[in-house]
Amino acid sequence: MNFENIMEEVYQKIKTINDPGSPASYIPELAIVDESKFGVHISTNNKENIGLGDCNEKFSIQSIAKVLSLCLAYRLQGDQLWERVGVEPSGTSFNSLVQLEADKGIPRNPFLNAGAIVISDILLSNLENPKAEFLHFVQGISNNKSLDYSSRIAESEKAVGYRNIALCNFIKSFGNVANEPCDILDFYFDLCSLEMSCKELSNLFLFLANNGRSMSTNKSILSESQSKRINALMQTCGFYDESGEFAFKVGLPGKSGVGGGIIAIHPDQYAIAVWSPKLNKKGNSFKGMKFLEEFTTKSELSIF
Ligand code: GLN
Repeated sequence: MNFENIMEEVYQKIKTINDPGSPASYIPELAIVDESKFGVHISTNNKENIGLGDCNEKFSIQSIAKVLSLCLAYRLQGDQLWERVGVEPSGTSFNSLVQLEADKGIPRNPFLNAGAIVISDILLSNLENPKAEFLHFVQGISNNKSLDYSSRIAESEKAVGYRNIALCNFIKSFGNVANEPCDILDFYFDLCSLEMSCKELSNLFLFLANNGRSMSTNKSILSESQSKRINALMQTCGFYDESGEFAFKVGLPGKSGVGGGIIAIHPDQYAIAVWSPKLNKKGNSFKGMKFLEEFTTKSELSIF
């Protein structure tokens, strides 16, 4: 498969399309990012690396980090985890409060903000120094010590994080988090503030295309079965109420973030990252989705 030509062709085509989206405005620091940024990077199981555009510039990965916190919680707790968070697509937006009442504080899946808040609580209960240990876990996956949080982004979100504060308190009222909401939220905002480039992102996530084993260190991050399940959740829940659309058009497990990033996995083949800050109405990168749709169509490789 000649990914290089396809990447180049699709990148040039999508770069010039009209983008009706706009950057996330509810987090002040995200609202001021240069919206013309556009980067793509693919890392393959055959050790190919191809990047274009702003692929080496770090950006805020936001909800993409929820996959990583879930992986660490899964390592620590195993299947016990699923007693506190579901594995069903929600059909609601990422920050919705509505289902929690009916579901008695058990979020439908770990990629909703509600679900990621419960996962954050689990990490807080299991780790002595969650902020440092989570970062160490992330850095270790692709052996990249330059990965870090952004205190600027975390503070910016924290100052206006009223919805997440509401979600966390609501879950606490059902008894599905053990720690104090302010501590859980501090950790949640930190993990959402992780920054990396498309190149770093696709390198980092390659373990999910490699049965849970890091391509950089050859260490097992997750078991094969756990890795398969994380991919299944990304496929069914990674884009909130647009997960069906992403499966239909792109056909890969993936995860988006309101920073405009998307990571997608083709098991046994590659991990591909895209960054374009303007989001569609569902909070997913407009150009990111278009690029991946075109890329999987042109490359004619599918998991289906
Ligand atoms: N930090 C963001 C929030 O909690 C993450 C949302 C997202 O990327 N979809 O609202």
